[in-house]
Amino acid sequence: STPAAVTSGLARAARQGLLIKGGAALEQLGHIQQIAFDKTGTLTEGRPQVVDIVTFGESQETVLQLAAAVEKGSRHPLAQAIVRYADDKSIQFGEADNVSVSAGKGVSGLVDGKAVVVGSPSHLKDEIGHVKDAVQGIEGLEEQGCTVVGVVFDGELIGLIAISDTLREDAEEAIQSLNKLGITSIMLTGDNPRAAAAIASRIGVDYRAGLLPEDKVTTVRELQAKAPVAMVGDGINDAPALKSAHVGIAMGNGTDVALETADAALTHEKVTDLANMIDLSRATLGIIR
Ligand code: ADP
Ligand code: MG
Repeated sequence: STPAAVTSGLARAARQGLLIKGGAALEQLGHIQQIAFDKTGTLTEGRPQVVDIVTFGESQETVLQLAAAVEKGSRHPLAQAIVRYADDKSIQFGEADNVSVSAGKGVSGLVDGKAVVVGSPSHLKDEIGHVKDAVQGIEGLEEQGCTVVGVVFDGELIGLIAISDTLREDAEEAIQSLNKLGITSIMLTGDNPRAAAAIASRIGVDYRAGLLPEDKVTTVRELQAKAPVAMVGDGINDAPALKSAHVGIAMGNGTDVALETADAALTHEKVTDLANMIDLSRATLGIIR
């Protein structure tokens, strides 16, 4: 392909809301054979809602107050779901001190001098050594596709918050149109395997679950050893994985970090645009498969 063909390909892409950052990125997109998807905010809408609260001894209000106090400063979609829910219920909560985030695990802080931890059941198991008799409740909620986070106060598990996100309406179609182009798709998520399985089976995609941000990087590298990989994400925790892929693609609504790190972006926030992007890149390069 000539430089002129590439320039007009990039312009044509831009008119369709497909941002490709230059000729090198277009060239790489034309050669992609696998796509790794982040789940939250990429295959799902990324505005999860609290759907259930289970308590052990304390009231729902207390559980929410403590959780919201430590999640208040976080931009994580789960954190925002908890804070939004507390606000919607007009529940007053303070601000925690010494808040610290463990990427892909949870968040902790001090409320009235006592430790509060909000995070994944496996993270809490590491923190307090058990998740009590909560295991069945957790698994039941996860099998319905929920993400369950536990709330620990002063070393005791006092509640579970079940949070659920809506699949993007074009997610299944996106996977199918990539299949038609001969591209294999896989969903990479830090979420639990049961929720991941429930979601993946609805759209017909392979998955790996329970991945920490650094595990996503390792997985992308593993896939890349077989054939060129594009990674699509919205950037909360995903910037390293986007960077390690052959091509990093940001969802249009993604964080600034993702947009900066990425080689391309879907500015209309449509996952079906991925197939268009690859189709257009192949056509520009004269690649026929
Ligand atoms: P994903 O791969 O779906 O984007 P993340 O890597 O961001 O997920 O997070 C993985 C898991 O870590 C979440 O499902 C949740 O259990 C836990 N987690 C991460 N951040 C938070 C937070 N701010 N509050 C509570 N739990 C969290
Ligand atoms: Mg994420």
